[in-house]
Amino acid sequence: MNLDFTDEDRAFRDEVRGFLREALPADLREKMIARRHLEKSDIVRWQQILNARGWAVPAWPVEWGGQAWTPTQRYIFQEEMALAHAPEGSPFNVNMIGPVIAAFGSQAQKARFLPATANIDIWWCQGFSEPGAGSDLAALKTSAVRDGDDYVLNGQKIWTTQAQYADWMFALVRTNNTGKRQQGITFLLLDMKTQGLTIRPIESIDGARDLHECFFDNARVPVENRIGEEGRGWDYAKHLLGSERSGIARIGLSKERLALLRRLEGELSELGVLSGAERQRLRRKLAEAEVELRALELTQLRVVSADAHGGGANSAASILKVKGTELQQRMTELAMELAGPEGLALAGHDAAGDHGWLAAAAPYYFTMRKVSIFGGSNEVQRNIIAKTVLGL
Ligand SMILES: Cc1cc2nc3c(=O)[nH]c(=O)nc-3n(C[C@H](O)[C@H](O)[C@H](O)COP(=O)(O)OP(=O)(O)OC[C@H]3O[C@@H](n4cnc5c(N)ncnc54)[C@H](O)[C@@H]3O)c2cc1C
Repeated sequence: MNLDFTDEDRAFRDEVRGFLREALPADLREKMIARRHLEKSDIVRWQQILNARGWAVPAWPVEWGGQAWTPTQRYIFQEEMALAHAPEGSPFNVNMIGPVIAAFGSQAQKARFLPATANIDIWWCQGFSEPGAGSDLAALKTSAVRDGDDYVLNGQKIWTTQAQYADWMFALVRTNNTGKRQQGITFLLLDMKTQGLTIRPIESIDGARDLHECFFDNARVPVENRIGEEGRGWDYAKHLLGSERSGIARIGLSKERLALLRRLEGELSELGVLSGAERQRLRRKLAEAEVELRALELTQLRVVSADAHGGGANSAASILKVKGTELQQRMTELAMELAGPEGLALAGHDAAGDHGWLAAAAPYYFTMRKVSIFGGSNEVQRNIIAKTVLGL
């Protein structure tokens, strides 16, 4: 197994770096470094810059705006984006619904939705989870009853991220209550302006109001907005949830944070803010995190290399998810340690100043608790590792 980059890979890396240096607006870069809240307009602006370059949706089929990149090139692109402090595009558009429509949508759905989804002219949200149906998603109950050319929806979704921005939702609904639970699930696309759909924000621990409950009260969705066949929604959802293995650990993101923490530790030491003992303790922790990050990167590169040579073990995705998210959270814990009492302030700091990161340390620490919950919780990933890797 060869883990070295080729000359072409290195040239590709230079091309990506050059583009990001030129194209990433300075205000977005600063917001990302300080982990300040990104507005909808920030994400739209950046995704449209990427789309104009042809790089907004590289993993999609080429005819719909994708790039015929190798797994190694995709890995390099993600890493360089993170290291340059570039925002990610909307995951709902780029990694979730786009690939599903491209794979299972009708020609009319592809033409209607894919270009607008790549350019984020349509903002999507994900209506999968329900109270009582999260890890056990097949327990979902929102019903869709056929009435002429429509489905009539009743029920509730929860944790719908950025529903306040969304133009459309992709949702899993129950069209059949008999037989195997998975076989009664259908995949629908619905306009957020649909009558009978109400959304209500949930305030999260970092003070944001990005999460929502969505209620359906006899909401009518045209049958033509169904993806594929009735009752096959579970198969399409599995395609969506098994999104790109190579990005799951977000190693570039942790590398970018680690470099920032090292720089901050140096600055605070020079200013005499940290005592000798504190400095030693922090440096040891930073070094430990770096060792683990490098080990994870090697695992990631082995997966990329296996992919490039025609496939590897699927269980690697679970290992990368658990370890990758643990390290992302570790970076936020170290930032809190560095910030000390200043990190406790949730507001009131000059968020745009040189040390804007202080104002964001606590909210970012809190919000990053989510990464071990969504996308398949880490406990559930450990079950998968136990079964598929350890054979328990
Ligand atoms: C910030 C955030 C954003 C989200 N955004 C969206 C979104 O946009 N759209 C959407 O549809 N959903 C979204 N979700 C929902 C997310 O997918 C679910 O929270 C997740 O699937 C877990 O489900 P649950 O919250 O119902 O917890 P539960 O499934 O009830 O789990 C509770 C606890 O039990 C553990 N557990 C559950 N089953 C097992 C098991 N078999 N073995 C061991 N432990 C187990 C879990 O790990 C967890 O710790 C979001 C969640 C968060 C936190």
